[in-house]
Amino acid sequence: MAPEFTNSLLVSDGARCVIFDAWGRADAWEKLLARRGMRPVAIYATHGHADHISAAPDLAARYNIPWFLNQLDVPLVLWGNQILDFWGLPRIADDFVRPHDLRPGRVKILDDIDMEIIASPGHSLGGVMFYFPEYKILLTGDTIFRDGVGRTDLPGGDEKVLRQSIANLMARDLPDDTHLIHGHGDDSIMGAVKSVFC
Ligand SMILES: [Zn+2]
Repeated sequence: MAPEFTNSLLVSDGARCVIFDAWGRADAWEKLLARRGMRPVAIYATHGHADHISAAPDLAARYNIPWFLNQLDVPLVLWGNQILDFWGLPRIADDFVRPHDLRPGRVKILDDIDMEIIASPGHSLGGVMFYFPEYKILLTGDTIFRDGVGRTDLPGGDEKVLRQSIANLMARDLPDDTHLIHGHGDDSIMGAVKSVFC
């Protein structure tokens, strides 16, 4: 998937924010955050492919903040440099700031925003989704898209595992009006996705 179509997300309570899938250049993020008057406090990654983490280690160092990635995807971090070269983007340094592990369960981001981390392997070994129950928003990463499922031909990909992750998500029966933000492409809603996968 072309990099310009990666969806990054900022969740903010005003002055502070959390970044999801910090794609692109750290310099560009720094300018954007300064322009919006926001200070990042953490970075979360749905998975370890370069187009979802390219700016994360650098931003973590610049702002002295943690970044989170499931440990099973940590080997993908430097593997992604060949892709960053291809796109003409800055490489991730060999001594990059190590991510904190990301395990399934509930966490609080910012002061009062609850988030559930949902294991979703298949596109990569350590892929996760992020669910905000109060806001009915689900970040799917590259597990599913508006018009299909994630590719499984990259390292750690496994089609059977991906299908099981999607089946597990459908079994949760999230509200039909849950807003889905995918790793690439347009958003969708849960009701439409259920009609495809259930
Ligand atoms: Zn990916």
